[in-house]
Amino acid sequence: MALKEQILNEIKGCEKLLIGIGEEWNGILAGGEDSLYERLGGLIKDKDYFIVTTLTNGELMKSGLDSKRMVAPCGNVTWRQCSKACTKDIWEPGEIPDDICPHCGEPLTGNTIQAETYIEEGYLPQWNAYTRWLAGTLNKKLVILELGVGFQTPTVIRWPFEKTASVNNKAFLYRIHGSFAQLSEGLRGKAESIPVNSVEFLESI
Ligand SMILES: [Zn+2]
Repeated sequence: MALKEQILNEIKGCEKLLIGIGEEWNGILAGGEDSLYERLGGLIKDKDYFIVTTLTNGELMKSGLDSKRMVAPCGNVTWRQCSKACTKDIWEPGEIPDDICPHCGEPLTGNTIQAETYIEEGYLPQWNAYTRWLAGTLNKKLVILELGVGFQTPTVIRWPFEKTASVNNKAFLYRIHGSFAQLSEGLRGKAESIPVNSVEFLESI
């Protein structure tokens, strides 16, 4: 299919590559050479990339992709925080075996936007790395791949990616989604809508 070749060529030729991963990837697990994350990693391994995900399952972080080039602003359920947010401490998986807050005795919960009070310190260091990286994409040939990002949390990827595509003259956005690939009017000439499930699309590349 010509479109797939076009995207592969665009990836090969770009200076910067911004990737968003959303809801369509919810059931995708990391690990194993045939994992979709590893397949993505094979496509982008030589590129100056950054990945933003709205998923909270932590699979992207478990994958072989470079952890310095990714951020999960909605959190990571395998990281634990106090459900009452009595402390900004965040614990790695297994660090607190009984899953009880050592400070106040309340249960721990996933460090995600689902927590009653989300401790944002978990993702902020990588968010800062992302904004620095993004500032360096201006006037660079930037390809934006939006993979399966719908409207659950559009302020994290979908809307900012549209803005990034429109402010950078050399940027081009590929929006790949089985149900929500539509583009706003302002993106004419700056983006292409690919109404195909992004998991299936990537599996076929
Ligand atoms: Zn506590």
